[in-house]
Amino acid sequence: MLSDSQTPPPGLDAARATLERVWGHADFRGLQAKVVAEILAERDVLAVLPTGGGKSVCYQIPAILRPGLGLVISPLIALMTDQVEALRQQGVAAARLDSGLSLDERTNVLRAARSGELDLLYVSPEGLASGALTDRLRDLPLSLIAIDEAHCVSQWGHDFRPDYRTLGRLGELFPGVPRIAVTATADARTRDDILASLHLEHAAVFVDSFARPNLQLSAIRKESASRAKTDAHVIELVRARRGQSGVVYCGSRDGCERVAEALKSAGTNGIAYHAGMSGPERDRRLERFLAEDGAVMVATIAFGMGVDKADVRFVIHADPPGSLEAYWQEIGRAGRDGEPAEGITLYGPSDIAWTLKRLDGRPMAEEVKSVQTRKARQLFAMLDGAICRPQAVRRYFGETDAGPCGVCDICSDPPALYDATVPAQKALAAVQRLGGRFGKGRIVDHLLGKTKDVQPWESDLSTWGIGKEIAPTGWRDILDHLMFEGLLLEDPNDGKPLVGLGDPERVRAVYRGEIAVEVRRTPPGMATGRAAPRRAKNDRNAAVEALDADVRARFETLRAWRRDRASEQHV
Ligand code: ADP
Ligand code: MG
Ligand code: ZN
Repeated sequence: MLSDSQTPPPGLDAARATLERVWGHADFRGLQAKVVAEILAERDVLAVLPTGGGKSVCYQIPAILRPGLGLVISPLIALMTDQVEALRQQGVAAARLDSGLSLDERTNVLRAARSGELDLLYVSPEGLASGALTDRLRDLPLSLIAIDEAHCVSQWGHDFRPDYRTLGRLGELFPGVPRIAVTATADARTRDDILASLHLEHAAVFVDSFARPNLQLSAIRKESASRAKTDAHVIELVRARRGQSGVVYCGSRDGCERVAEALKSAGTNGIAYHAGMSGPERDRRLERFLAEDGAVMVATIAFGMGVDKADVRFVIHADPPGSLEAYWQEIGRAGRDGEPAEGITLYGPSDIAWTLKRLDGRPMAEEVKSVQTRKARQLFAMLDGAICRPQAVRRYFGETDAGPCGVCDICSDPPALYDATVPAQKALAAVQRLGGRFGKGRIVDHLLGKTKDVQPWESDLSTWGIGKEIAPTGWRDILDHLMFEGLLLEDPNDGKPLVGLGDPERVRAVYRGEIAVEVRRTPPGMATGRAAPRRAKNDRNAAVEALDADVRARFETLRAWRRDRASEQHV
């Protein structure tokens, strides 16, 4: 044991004093104090705290207080550089070892580490994967090992880094050194995977509430698949917020360049940022974003992890993210100062097709692909759903007691819902009869019994013309919604996408009437007559219950896995 048996180990009072002295913060917030106390008591920890929740100090303070060196594993050089710079300016002895250093610099850092001058040493996972560095670190007195952005270890997460896999050996390499893994990604399966992969079986797990009451969230369905229209919409949203600092996320590098240019022409300080730029160029742009008033970063997901700008007033998704985790992390970059901020997400049916296409092209195991596909659908179901946004996301994260936020688009203007179960059954039947041979427009024509040059085989089908009671735009809305729910799929690998049936189990459940399909817009032709609109209730509507059932089911799966794993260990 490294701690001097003569003096009691540092406690929370000392930790609080350090927080005040080094960072100038009056007190811990959220679960920070509990996490810090656990590490000071030399126990392993997994801490899942929201973005901006202050995960860094959870390991930085114990590293400063405990004798020895705190080793921090961080996935991005830019992140490490920022943190180390900030710590140095605050008078903390911190250094980093990464591929960007010269041989001399490396030697100096290692010398400082050896002589006990350093409190914190940041390394990359790739660095640690090389045996040479591990050997050098092995005989150093380590106070703790911190694994930042620990979700990178999990293939279920949205940011998997293969090098993180090697971190499972840390416990063996540095026996007796307390380890702390921190992340903002809270999905139960990812959490479980982090614990297993990092061999943190005995860790205390802390999961903070994901509530971000100062964020006002909304989602807007794109009016068309036209990029020009989406761009124009984004420009309009940004111009209405002129002078505020914000982030616009785009799905592609092209998109970033285009929107940033358009913003500049519109007199706004738009800055493009993506991985196609050199490191120094990106650094320059990040500096401008941090320093200039009213700067709007127009970026791909290459931008964000660890960026600490407190006064970001809005995050706009010109294209939706890939999962609810990514969504929460990205909108979470707004309003870190606790002042009101907005998160606005634009989404459309073509985005699902695009998301699936991208997933399809990525080299990964089928199982992982199917999980990520499901995650993408859950995101779209939320975006096109009628449940309070934060409530839906927090329940997804397992916060089953989360209530409505009161300020999101759904809370402030509950949409009229229509029971579209019968039309949905008709549409699914038509798609099935048509055997996935047609695109959306032609399916609508088929339902209306209106196809030009109809072939006898088509007009012989039992679904021919069964949807005359609904206008074409109503049908298009219903088909779109069925896609957002994953009940229909558009083949993404096609210029003129064909529509087929989605998740067979859910399709069957809709056929049997076990799942009700509710659509938000007024399908023309449905507003009159039997389908009376009703206001969505935010607390206990069917959708919330379905979501709860989904959460329960996922926890059940998790428990089953735990049981399996436990019994495996006894074999
Ligand atoms: P994340 O959890 O996203 O990694 P950081 O560790 O980067 O968050 O912290 C986000 C910001 O919150 C930083 O500016 C940090 O100094 C600040 N912060 C951390 N702890 C506290 C606290 N107890 N009180 C006030 N501000 C804090
Ligand atoms: Mg962080
Ligand atoms: Zn709400």
